[in-house]
Amino acid sequence: MVFFEQILFVLALAAAGWFLTRRIGLIRRAILLGRPEDRSDHPGERLNIMLRVAFGQKKMMTKPLVGLMHFVIYLGFIIINIEVLEIILDGIFGTHRLFAPYLGGVYPFIINTFEILALGVLLVCVGFLARRYVAKVARFQPERHREMGRWPRTDATLILVFEILLMTAFLTWNASDSLLRERGFGHYGELRGTVGSFVVSRFIEPLLSGLGDPGLVAVERFTWWFHILGILGFAVYLTYSKHLHIGLAFPNTYYSDLRPKGQIKNMPEITKEVQLALGIPGADPTEPPAEPGRFGAKDVRDLSWKNLMDAYSCTECGRCTAACPANLTGKKLSPRKIMMDTRDRLEDLQRGWQKTGPDFDDGKSLLGDYITAEEINACTTCQACVQECPVNINPLDIIQQLRRYRIMEEAQAPGSWNAMFSNIENNMAPWKFSPSDRFNWADQLKQ
Ligand code: SF4
Ligand code: SF4
Repeated sequence: MVFFEQILFVLALAAAGWFLTRRIGLIRRAILLGRPEDRSDHPGERLNIMLRVAFGQKKMMTKPLVGLMHFVIYLGFIIINIEVLEIILDGIFGTHRLFAPYLGGVYPFIINTFEILALGVLLVCVGFLARRYVAKVARFQPERHREMGRWPRTDATLILVFEILLMTAFLTWNASDSLLRERGFGHYGELRGTVGSFVVSRFIEPLLSGLGDPGLVAVERFTWWFHILGILGFAVYLTYSKHLHIGLAFPNTYYSDLRPKGQIKNMPEITKEVQLALGIPGADPTEPPAEPGRFGAKDVRDLSWKNLMDAYSCTECGRCTAACPANLTGKKLSPRKIMMDTRDRLEDLQRGWQKTGPDFDDGKSLLGDYITAEEINACTTCQACVQECPVNINPLDIIQQLRRYRIMEEAQAPGSWNAMFSNIENNMAPWKFSPSDRFNWADQLKQ
């Protein structure tokens, strides 16, 4: 590698590092916009959930074939990127296959493993494209799900095509490199006899063997640069894409909701007020009631940081929407859209901060401008979306907080709900019967 290439490489690495750090900082700031919520309890249980759900891909395996395909990409992504370490060091120090002399016979074994995984990733990406565009899996089709419009579709396609190109470049690079090594050309020849051809790229070698030495060096250099610049670009692009879940799935599952499913979160301010009014022990009467600020949530600032992390972790897989009874019966609600809208709102705020500073206010809010009352009112609180999500996202928690705002701050509950609320208040049950009539049904049993 010539000195000029080294300079270029260091500049590219620094630029990617700068963009990545800046973008991560913005996302962190957007997540911390949410209300505080303590999720530091039960670290052992949390670690266990993270290992099973994020590392072990447990929930993905409910659909075994797709789960396996996803696992190949995941494994490929983690393992092949070990190779990136060598590429980066080669780029900085101007070396070529830096680790090969130190690892001896293990080196070809490692590269062969990478190549098998690269082929697997390539085939799986083609399979995923076919699922979207040939098999037309319903939950990805914009005709049936309005949230799957142009950008989400382009994003998903781009990443799959990108992966195919990266893996092809990796294999072609190895093939051209092996040929140059065999020919003993320049510094490539120094590893002749130590490293031979590799298990997958040897099938590409015949396609390149007709090239002369300068042509082969051009292919080797082009594919090396394409591969590493592609990876750096990919890393920055991820932060703008649904594929951010590659990184966020781990903290997001660690901070999972540990409450039993179906247990609805209380509002501590109201609980305390009620406890005081009813004289229930536990509430400290000397402590002034906390200022609730706002009941429920109107905008992202009213949600918790975990709700906002959920939004950035959403993979847009649509498993939640495919299981949602409201969506299945033709209602407007899609839990996937709830998560995507929350992230869109955060991204719009970020763009505003960048333009006009931290006091940016566009007069918009999550409820009303992004998510409508019709959507949130359609939720049955069945928890199917929470159960299905492969990265333990809780769309229902956001829906409930938006509803609380509509009901408690705007008094905008549908008429039938208001009737239920007054029944609960007066009859201690959702029905319109007096508590004293509750056992009337048993009267006949006495006769
Ligand atoms: S809890 Fe609501 S949003 Fe989630 S699946 Fe059930 S109805 Fe749909
Ligand atoms: S919330 Fe979960 S299940 Fe729903 S689209 Fe996002 S990642 Fe998939």
